[in-house]
Amino acid sequence: MKHLNLLILLFLIHSFCRSQEKEVIIKVDTLTSEVYMLTGQGGNIGLYVNATNSFMIDDQFARLSPKIKLAISSITDKPLKYLINTHMHGDHTGGNAEFNSESTILIAQNNVRTSLEKKLEEKPELGKDILPEITFSEELQLFENDETIMAFHVHNAHTDSDAMIYFMKNNVLHMGDTYFSERYPYMDLKNGGSVEGYISAIEKAIMVIDDNTIIIPGHGRPSNKQKLIDYLDMLETIKENILKAIASGDTLEQVEKNSSISSKYDDDFGTGFISPERMRIIFYTSLKK
Ligand SMILES: [Zn+2]
Repeated sequence: MKHLNLLILLFLIHSFCRSQEKEVIIKVDTLTSEVYMLTGQGGNIGLYVNATNSFMIDDQFARLSPKIKLAISSITDKPLKYLINTHMHGDHTGGNAEFNSESTILIAQNNVRTSLEKKLEEKPELGKDILPEITFSEELQLFENDETIMAFHVHNAHTDSDAMIYFMKNNVLHMGDTYFSERYPYMDLKNGGSVEGYISAIEKAIMVIDDNTIIIPGHGRPSNKQKLIDYLDMLETIKENILKAIASGDTLEQVEKNSSISSKYDDDFGTGFISPERMRIIFYTSLKK
């Protein structure tokens, strides 16, 4: 009887998980005639398709891979030649092994590989396919038909492993998690992220793009240069306010509670995964160093 109850319980948990899973829908945004953005759960995926190949940026979670493959098959049947990770986090690299077939080359900044090697040591069952096969320290360029794809590392921004990927002809920039469009950013301080680096990364992006560039943020809806400039302005204002609080001797607890530091922006940016309080804690901790 006990066993039967346990089986029923397991069945119910399984059914619940499956029903939760069904709710994730992979949405496709067509950004240009060759570049798409796919949204599901986790980081936004970029997809570039030309006459012979396809090229993917980030891959969310392994459990979503079948759905993502189905969504891609509605766009193209071209083989996946390159897969690139914008940084090491699991909601951007979780599907690596599912997409990294014999004919696909997985590319990322050096520190993504270092981080995933550690993960593999802890969980060898993930398999070596999760590891990037080509890594770069600062920059990499790929030439595909008439498109040039630039990947460039930005230092200590969201993590220590961030890269932005720019499709020059299509004029699309995937910023990974160095941009959370319409939400407060997250700097993963334990993995090398910092407020200063995050701001520098956005300044670099603004230098690279023009008024017509379409931006794929790590999370949130597609964006553009003007919105990114406004975002930078918000980050700099909050940074100044936090630095003033630090200079006047405020503690972490005081800054966490002091809503006036960010109240001007909370309605527009503070409703997502990072609350205003959490954002103030991250800024304080990073800038106090
Ligand atoms: Zn991330």
